Amino acid sequence: APVDTHKVILPGATLGVLGGGQLGRMFAHAAQAMGYFTAVLDQDATSPAGLVSHHHVRTAYEDPQGLTELAQLCAAVTTEFENVPAGALNQLAASLPVSPAGASVAIAQDRAAEKAHFVKCGVPCAPYAVIESPEQLAAVNDALLPGILKTARMGYDGKGQIRVKTRAELVAGWQELGRVACVLEKMLPLAHECSVIVARGRDGTIVNLPVQRNLHRDGILAVTEVYEGNLPATQVEQAITAAKSVAIGLDYVGVLCVEFFVLDNGQLVVNEIAPRPHNSGHYSQNAMDVSQFELQVRSMTNLPLVQPRQHSATIMLNLLGDLWFKDSDTAQAPAWDQILALPGCHLHLYGKVDAKRARKMGHLNITAATPEQVRATALKAAGILG
Ligand code: ADP
Ligand code: MG
Repeated sequence: APVDTHKVILPGATLGVLGGGQLGRMFAHAAQAMGYFTAVLDQDATSPAGLVSHHHVRTAYEDPQGLTELAQLCAAVTTEFENVPAGALNQLAASLPVSPAGASVAIAQDRAAEKAHFVKCGVPCAPYAVIESPEQLAAVNDALLPGILKTARMGYDGKGQIRVKTRAELVAGWQELGRVACVLEKMLPLAHECSVIVARGRDGTIVNLPVQRNLHRDGILAVTEVYEGNLPATQVEQAITAAKSVAIGLDYVGVLCVEFFVLDNGQLVVNEIAPRPHNSGHYSQNAMDVSQFELQVRSMTNLPLVQPRQHSATIMLNLLGDLWFKDSDTAQAPAWDQILALPGCHLHLYGKVDAKRARKMGHLNITAATPEQVRATALKAAGILG
């Protein structure tokens, strides 16, 4: 029988997620809070989501048997890992509702396809060229330099990127990246970075979280701030409109994060998309009346998507493994008791067995009644973290 993708899947059913990382773990928590059972597909026996889920299928994403087992357990499936092969999503979609669709995920996995999609939606992005051959490399316009050479696939947290100032550096950079398919982007003068999370249902309903202002350190998200006045009002409007056009253009179902640059001249430029909840949306767990993970549950089950409301000013601090190695080479957890003595601090740890430098171990959501108060608490928390 054809898959009924529009059926409402009520609590009591089992929801599946491809990928066992922290995003899958927080999805599982949200689903379980609403009375769903959860199943995770991830090879790793100690994956953060596998540890908290009712079912854990321990195979590779491409394993047809693992996918069949997941399909038998679940009423619907979503993904938390960007690089799940689209083929795996398509195999599952033959027997149960899957969101987002393989076709949407495939676009988000490939920077060249992603940029072509932005152009198609009429949303401005950085000037760029696709480099897949020595001929395309030679034909690159000088106007794109200085630029950033990025592998088209598999990049994350600033990995797979080389900054190039000259043609010679460009040629050497492509060599260094293994002559794989790349995108060269013009280096833009950034005033801010921001992102917007939208959730879209199968019926076309679309809701959004407020615009998040993001600070990165060494290519990894460090801080997200969401409160009145965190960004100029015109860019806030534009970012929400642009994020919705990108989602509608994909006929997207599920939670989508759209990342933007705000340039020195105030222009808004789209950077990239993530077809899943995003690190910059974690504040929604404590500062919104509906979190990005609950939006993921609601969109995959065809439950109503209601516009989320922010009830607190908020700052999220990412907790990287580096914090465990402040004073010595043996891992030592930060002073959580001191942090949690501060008002409005909400600790989220992902249950990862080993702390490692640059590894995302957790995050701290800080909430307060006003931007001033939340900034003051964040400064104190950062002081304790060191
Ligand atoms: P990732 O997939 O690793 O997140 P991004 O494309 O978002 O890769 O790049 C990581 C960071 O590098 C961005 O958040 C931004 O700070 C910087 N960056 C990327 N592209 C540009 C650009 N064209 N101009 C200026 N800075 C950039
Ligand atoms: Mg990014």
